[in-house]
Amino acid sequence: MPITTINPATGEEQPTKLEKLTPEQVERKLALAGEAFRAHRRTSIADRTAKMAAAGEILAGEKEKFARIMTMEMGKTLKSAIAEAEKCAWACRYYAENGARFLADEEVETKAKRSYVRHLPIGPVLAVMPWNFPFWQVFRFAAPALVAGNVGLLKHASNVPRCALAIEDIFRRAGFPEGVFQTLLIGSDAVAGVLDDPRVRAATLTGSTPAGSSVAERAGKNLKKTVLELGGSDPFIVLPSADLDLAAETAAKARCINNGQSCIAAKRFIVHADVYDAFTERFVRAMRAQKVGDPMADDTDVGPLAMESTRDDVERQVRESAARGAKVLTGGERIEGPGWFYPPTILAEIPEDAPAYREEVFGPVALLFRAKDADEAISLANDSDFGLGSSVWTRDEAEARRFVDELEAGMTFVNAMVASDPRLPFGGVKESGYGRELGSIGMREFMNIKSVWMEDEGPDEHPAAE
Ligand code: NAP
Repeated sequence: MPITTINPATGEEQPTKLEKLTPEQVERKLALAGEAFRAHRRTSIADRTAKMAAAGEILAGEKEKFARIMTMEMGKTLKSAIAEAEKCAWACRYYAENGARFLADEEVETKAKRSYVRHLPIGPVLAVMPWNFPFWQVFRFAAPALVAGNVGLLKHASNVPRCALAIEDIFRRAGFPEGVFQTLLIGSDAVAGVLDDPRVRAATLTGSTPAGSSVAERAGKNLKKTVLELGGSDPFIVLPSADLDLAAETAAKARCINNGQSCIAAKRFIVHADVYDAFTERFVRAMRAQKVGDPMADDTDVGPLAMESTRDDVERQVRESAARGAKVLTGGERIEGPGWFYPPTILAEIPEDAPAYREEVFGPVALLFRAKDADEAISLANDSDFGLGSSVWTRDEAEARRFVDELEAGMTFVNAMVASDPRLPFGGVKESGYGRELGSIGMREFMNIKSVWMEDEGPDEHPAAE
């Protein structure tokens, strides 16, 4: 079946000769993944890290070319797409430089002559990925996975097939043998079959909570491990001691990043009553200053939403929330004309029964809340099904520590916007998912963590225990 993609900036169909894989083609790719794993797991770490470094060089050297593919398929600004390619190159370099250290045996003292923990790869891992950071989401899975000796099967979002094929090509050109990283051009209806296949050993999904739940259910039935990086409605909390100018400027950036379509975008702005009016005035100004337009242009801050359906969803959430009493402080109406543009918008006084209160809003729409004190700010922040990132603005160290301990989130950034970093684990709690990507912890998610005991005599200190 042919695959159709639409340029979100123009609404025009992009000419394509791409076809979805037939079941027979999927079978051949799964067989190749199994074969490739048997060879790849035996290669040295030095060999794998050299190839990962080469992948990083390709990304850095051809970043404009890759960026254009991203912008044409999902509408992010070209400058942010170039930055995304650079960040992928960083992740490749990071695992090339640190992979051997993360995978080294860990000696553990016992009564054995030698006992240690060894990290071994587990096999082909299916990665179901979203369109919003079409390169980064894939590389933050693939760079550690391939260095660890696993092989990757990518089912990318249906609107970014050229990104998916370009990524496969980067790994081939970097020297990874055929089958070590393959793109499967399949729809989400074909994912269950791949998860059922015994050659596939685990799965990672980055995407919406319903998609994560569906993949986890199927994988669970097959007793396969999953890592889930799901939606978020991150709080951005402003307290009286904050630098309000910097907080408001960062707030607009944190809400509008990636045209408002980031899992870790700040979405709920919870502001202490003492600084609510002063912050709001600055924030409205900063949101209005964001330039909406052609994503290819250098001076554009906010391009179109990725799909017509994404804009329809955002529009519905804003309209229904306003109908229930939310106040629109800026924006709030779609931009007419070709493409799926929506302006930076702020909603305030949002009632609990408004869709924007509970749902993730995947567009440049900020939700503003007033908190009477720090206690109320924490309870508002935690009154969400999600728990991905969080950002707290305060110059009071004791207050900052309290928020770090009490916010139900996988990440808390103090006086900074939330961002992923290859050196730090990334992931959430509650309906934002489980497991971690990045850092050494992310690398070990898909490994057989084997205990090794080197001595004839076995452990006997607790013979009754298993
Ligand atoms: P999505 O609709 O859930 O799609 C993500 C991927 O899952 C796509 O490849 C999609 O394939 C596939 N998929 C959808 N339903 C599925 C099902 N029932 N079974 C198997 N696969 C399924 O999400 P999206 O619209 O692309 O991305 C936006 C969401 O991702 C937001 O909620 C955002 O917060 C979240 N996100 C989370 C993170 C994180 O790190 N936590 C990062 C980025 C995005 P098709 O395209 O073929 O439908």
